[in-house]
Amino acid sequence: MNSKAAQDSRLTSRVAAFLGRIRIVLIDTTHPGNIGATARAMKVMGLERLHLVAPKVFPHADATARASGADDLLQHARVHESLEQAIQGCSLVLGTSARLRSLSMPQLNVRKAAEQAMTEPGQQDIAILFGRERHGLTNEQIQRCHRLVHIETNPEYGSLNIAQAVQLMAYELRMAALGSGAVEKPPTDWQPVDAGQMELFYEHLEQALLDVEFLNPRQPKKLMMRLRRLFNRARPDQNEINILRGILAAAQRAAGKRQGTDD
Ligand code: SAH
Repeated sequence: MNSKAAQDSRLTSRVAAFLGRIRIVLIDTTHPGNIGATARAMKVMGLERLHLVAPKVFPHADATARASGADDLLQHARVHESLEQAIQGCSLVLGTSARLRSLSMPQLNVRKAAEQAMTEPGQQDIAILFGRERHGLTNEQIQRCHRLVHIETNPEYGSLNIAQAVQLMAYELRMAALGSGAVEKPPTDWQPVDAGQMELFYEHLEQALLDVEFLNPRQPKKLMMRLRRLFNRARPDQNEINILRGILAAAQRAAGKRQGTDD
């Protein structure tokens, strides 16, 4: 194989490996035609894994007709009774939403979401959820998501047909697989915490863990490292750091009182 062919084949297998981790999850879909159109939207971009949670009617002739040649995806579609089953084994769950929700959580545009999915570490699957045609995802379903994904639209008319939303997501996933990079947009009320404040928080955390006798002073390193990784990944904001420090202070007071009664 010449080196250009070898490069192409490496790229093809990288793209396939990434796209193979993606599950498209349609929840409570009402119209079987939309399920077929979704299968087609997926297949043209190289996605294959369609999961359906409680579809109203499936299988159905309308689904097969709209799939127009992508009916193999319909045959292999996994049908679940609950969302929990559909996202089992996924490390990252992204929920697509036509509107901004009152519940403040990280919101990515579809391009950044695809890039984030692309750089998701590990081998586990990545689920992308699509809500019911009329109402979208419920708040309960959204709480299962690590991030929300929004497709930029006309602000006065922003609700896409579900299969078209899948099409745009699938296209961006393919583009992300061909290129790469990841940037995350924090929620609008997110107040950054500077590195110095983070250090003060970690010092406080360490002291509190010693005070409540959770941290073993002979082997302190690994636990703190893991906790740092956890909090850095979560990127707590100013309010959250204040809450966490309040909890730590309360735990320290309680541990002090307990010691007091023991004496
Ligand atoms: N009225 C609903 C619209 C549901 S459209 C709502 O406001 O959420 C059905 C599904 O298509 C949505 O649940 C979402 O998964 C997807 N969708 C439609 N428009 C979208 C957009 N602009 N951005 C992201 N997902 C969208």
